[in-house]
Amino acid sequence: MTNNMFFIANWKMFGDNKSVNSVKKVIKLSKDKKFKKVQIVYCPPYTLLDKFFRLSKNSNVKIGSQNCHYSEKPGPFTGSINANLIKSIGAEYVIIGHSENRFTGDNNNLINSKIKSALNNKLKIIFCIGETLKEKRNKKTNSILNSQIVNGLKNIKKNNNIIFAYEPVWSIGTGLVPKNRDLEKQISVIKKIIMRFWKLKNPKIVYGGSVNIKNINNFKKVSSINGFLIGGASQNTKNFIDIIKKSIN
Ligand code: PEP
Repeated sequence: MTNNMFFIANWKMFGDNKSVNSVKKVIKLSKDKKFKKVQIVYCPPYTLLDKFFRLSKNSNVKIGSQNCHYSEKPGPFTGSINANLIKSIGAEYVIIGHSENRFTGDNNNLINSKIKSALNNKLKIIFCIGETLKEKRNKKTNSILNSQIVNGLKNIKKNNNIIFAYEPVWSIGTGLVPKNRDLEKQISVIKKIIMRFWKLKNPKIVYGGSVNIKNINNFKKVSSINGFLIGGASQNTKNFIDIIKKSIN
């Protein structure tokens, strides 16, 4: 595992005005020489994007949105935010294809449109893929990952602005995690799919699913991953900082 690992905090629908203090502590950590190369990305709810961006402006901490609308142009989409609006407040990243959004209607086609629109707005994408427990039990993991990648990236030219986040759905928020050797195997399958489809040799792949301060020492032995997408544990700043510290030593 290298020093320039990604630590992506997905705050989901949590966080209020008081949360700025948390970000301040992480910004301080990011200025420490030891963590200079670490890539920290905060994805708070939309309501905090601007506030977090202003705080982190002169640091290595980057800001990302948790989703975006597919439409590049402004339009009559009540309650939605598109890539252009996200970019306009200074965010650099957007999470697309998170399973919690796939459950509520984001299919591979829609995800493909969102990725195109985000790339056209020069955002970097954290592209979530992963199988459900049922798909895993039915030995469908590899074909699901293949279809999520191939359809999600349809008609998109090879580029380095997409970070793949392997998030087995059965692991998100459950405390269940894959064994290291199974995780290595899945990462290698994902790399092969990307290589076959895009001829991209070294895609960035992060793991997400119940990462916490107890299991991070074990996860960091998986040398093929480039970092972590962290939900629950990132909402507690001390835990998030400890995870980063334990990963880089
Ligand atoms: C996530 O929401 O992307 C996630 C990985 O959540 P958790 O860490 O809580 O499993």
